[in-house]
Amino acid sequence: MGTSTERAGAATQGGQGGQPATGGPGAQRMAPEGERAAGGAQPPVALSPSRASDFMQCPLLYRFRVIDKLPEKPSAAATRGTVVHAVLERLFDAPAAERTAPGARAMVPGEWEKLLAKRPELAELFTDGAGGADGERLAVWLAEAEALVERWFSLEDPTRLEPAERELYVETVLESGLQLRGFVDRVDIAPTGEVRIVDYKTGKAPRPQFAEGALFQMKFYALVMWRRSGTVPRRLQLVYLGSGDLVTYDPTEADLRGVERKLLALWEAIQLATRTGDWRPRPTKLCGWCDHQAHCPEFGGTPPVYPLAVRPAAGEGGEQGRMGTI
Ligand code: SF4
Repeated sequence: MGTSTERAGAATQGGQGGQPATGGPGAQRMAPEGERAAGGAQPPVALSPSRASDFMQCPLLYRFRVIDKLPEKPSAAATRGTVVHAVLERLFDAPAAERTAPGARAMVPGEWEKLLAKRPELAELFTDGAGGADGERLAVWLAEAEALVERWFSLEDPTRLEPAERELYVETVLESGLQLRGFVDRVDIAPTGEVRIVDYKTGKAPRPQFAEGALFQMKFYALVMWRRSGTVPRRLQLVYLGSGDLVTYDPTEADLRGVERKLLALWEAIQLATRTGDWRPRPTKLCGWCDHQAHCPEFGGTPPVYPLAVRPAAGEGGEQGRMGTI
């Protein structure tokens, strides 16, 4: 889906009987070699854009989300993104002439109710200090979601669009065996056969120096589509509803080969960390948004016991520190 709405699953923390952490920032408690993975934890088998970004941001964050599957608190912003995406997807169920801004705004409360029915824990986002429902906060939040939906109509005209796909699950296996997968918000196909991949963002467009990070996700999807169909998508389009910006990029084969090389290097680093259990924290300003400070050595915390079997890192030591070059 390309938003930050992916959440870690239920807690599957390892047991509590590990050794105390020793050594540098990468040192964590580990299960002895050959010990079975605890709690059903499995090594990663595929990459999505979100998880690739997690690893690039902080390897330890990736571990907490993918291997330990530590729970994370619901976020009002991410939940709003989910509701807005649902409206922009389902709006196209209606005939073209009925895809109006007032109609789309009116869909917001219903999509929120549907989401809440599936995930009742989201109700905690709108409670007052005593645990009761905070109707005023919910009303403000719904109005913000409606404003984002309305802004979309200033950027695209759904009465002139007939998407080929919405919320499309895409997957491919590269020659190396690396599996890539993810959800594309929308795919448009022109009468000439040219493909446009569209992604909705409920935040603001990044400043130019950070634009490459946002495009990485789109190029990831373009690579998957290219490997699936043999045709490079003609255009990648990011729709920033927070600031009312459209960002487009026309990828080339050379771009996508570059992304493939980057992902292969990333995957090697992930596999190395998986084998050795050496997942290093990488503190940045983004730590302020991280739910796992209580388990992070950078904040005085201790990670759970590593739930996978580990192998000695003979000849492999120190590679984690090189992630900044990927
Ligand atoms: S708090 Fe920062 S350094 Fe620690 S796991 Fe989270 S993102 Fe990584």
